[in-house]
Amino acid sequence: MFFGYLTDLLFPRRCPACHGITDKKGELICEKCVGRFSAVKAPFCFKCGKEIGDEREEYCGDCIKKSFPFSRNVAAFNYDEIAGNSVMRFKNGGRREYADYYAQQLLSLRGKEIAGFKPDAIIPVPLLPAKKRERGFNQAEEIAKRIEKAIGVRLLSDAVIKVKNTGSQKQLDAKSRQESLKNAFLAKYSLKDFPRVLLVDDVFTTGSTLSALAKTVKKAGAKEVFGATVFVGKEE
Ligand SMILES: [Zn+2]
Ligand SMILES: [Zn+2]
Repeated sequence: MFFGYLTDLLFPRRCPACHGITDKKGELICEKCVGRFSAVKAPFCFKCGKEIGDEREEYCGDCIKKSFPFSRNVAAFNYDEIAGNSVMRFKNGGRREYADYYAQQLLSLRGKEIAGFKPDAIIPVPLLPAKKRERGFNQAEEIAKRIEKAIGVRLLSDAVIKVKNTGSQKQLDAKSRQESLKNAFLAKYSLKDFPRVLLVDDVFTTGSTLSALAKTVKKAGAKEVFGATVFVGKEE
């Protein structure tokens, strides 16, 4: 309690949208910023979770042509400019507290779908150990931890490690992304006891990262893999 008070004084919570100190103590976003993130509206793609305009369609234009090793991904927000700035500060500006808002919104907007996946375990997209040390935390793990706490599904942060530096994926096309992510992840133990696995990440773009991780997780014994990401969009 006292420690919490002290941390609030020293490191006041910041708003994930405007990055200012939040108006009220304990609030995850300022009042004026509520609604500034663009919520993914139904209907959304049954594969990647992106918004699709047409209710008669099941998949977005990208997913009609593709097959993924995971069954479905769901996301809370569209990856627009506000989202991009927020994620940048979250990852590189040490704004770890944004994970509170991200996880809360992901569960409030997509909780029904996530519960429907009936996951036996949650696995966050891992970072290279050196990258995690440099950043101080793994952003996907921070979101996953909060989801674990809220839904009571076991978090396996150590089940898969990243063993290859895949660099920035931004400039790569789909094929090169796939190539660079080959053998990027390594399972540390069997996942046979966890047939249904939920992968968690901050942003879903082309799905290459989630696909590579899903393959590794299935090879390790999981039967079906799902994804939940805070944002879904074009840029990483
Ligand atoms: Zn704000
Ligand atoms: Zn799609």
